[in-house]
Amino acid sequence: MHLEGSLRAEAVCALGAKHGVPVSVEEVLQRYAYGNFLEFIETFKWVSSLLREPEDYGLALRDLGEQLLAQRVVYAEVTLSVGVMLLRHQSPEKNFEAILGAAESFVERGLRINFVFDAVRQFGASAAMRVVEAAEQCASRAIVAFGIGGDELSVPAVEFRSVYERAATVGLHRLMHAGEIGGPQEIRNAIELLGVERIGHGIGAVHDPELMRMLADRGIPLEVCPQSNIRTGALARQLGVTEAQIEQHPLPVLLRRGVPIVLSTDDPAMFHTSLAAEYENARRMGLREEELIHVVRMGFDHAFSSVPA
Ligand SMILES: [Zn+2]
Repeated sequence: MHLEGSLRAEAVCALGAKHGVPVSVEEVLQRYAYGNFLEFIETFKWVSSLLREPEDYGLALRDLGEQLLAQRVVYAEVTLSVGVMLLRHQSPEKNFEAILGAAESFVERGLRINFVFDAVRQFGASAAMRVVEAAEQCASRAIVAFGIGGDELSVPAVEFRSVYERAATVGLHRLMHAGEIGGPQEIRNAIELLGVERIGHGIGAVHDPELMRMLADRGIPLEVCPQSNIRTGALARQLGVTEAQIEQHPLPVLLRRGVPIVLSTDDPAMFHTSLAAEYENARRMGLREEELIHVVRMGFDHAFSSVPA
């Protein structure tokens, strides 16, 4: 899940007021409704634009921590759009210090959070390299992975080769959003060219039985975010229809082919979802109770940190 996408309307209003761009809860909720993927990206950018100072990031993390605790989450890996911080000439180190300080306050309440430093695909390879360097400079064990999100159809995966090599060298796990709106080849490229260990979304794999077999054999999980796929139109796009229903989601097919699944919320506030709601979505897709329990287990198995279950 993304920190920026977890900001509830009330928190967005508080940030807006603080920075002299007042906005009402209704306006935020209006912006949290999208016709397509690009509209969603625009809203994500708008919310990110209100995160201007390290304390703003601390506020965001506290808001997220409370949401996670309310769902009895004990461990989360939270993605930070460090690529956007750098674009805005912010200091990732200072922002991360505030985020980490906020995260530490949740440990004694039973919630542990680790972090993914995320680059934006359409910003290109040298911008992505600066995200890896920022992770190095922060030098924190709480940063467990490097990833790339954004528009997967913009810059070819191969261009990020040296970025992922560097990430591996400095001890970061490797992630990438692929197969969200793109096809199976985007997922293959991420794995084969970049050594990616966990795929963001990856629902495009359903078009390719051989790829599903490879994911199953190698134990490479897909971070599946059903509600996000509905709200951004990604599922409709994958299915070639104008509007998709949650019951049409490929999660059951992927699961029954043995593909590891990490059920996730992506941007819970922006997509009006929660982890509990995603399990309810999975149930509506026809997953049996033992399958739902299996999915919970896989979340723990594929965490980039040993989690006391
Ligand atoms: Zn995402």
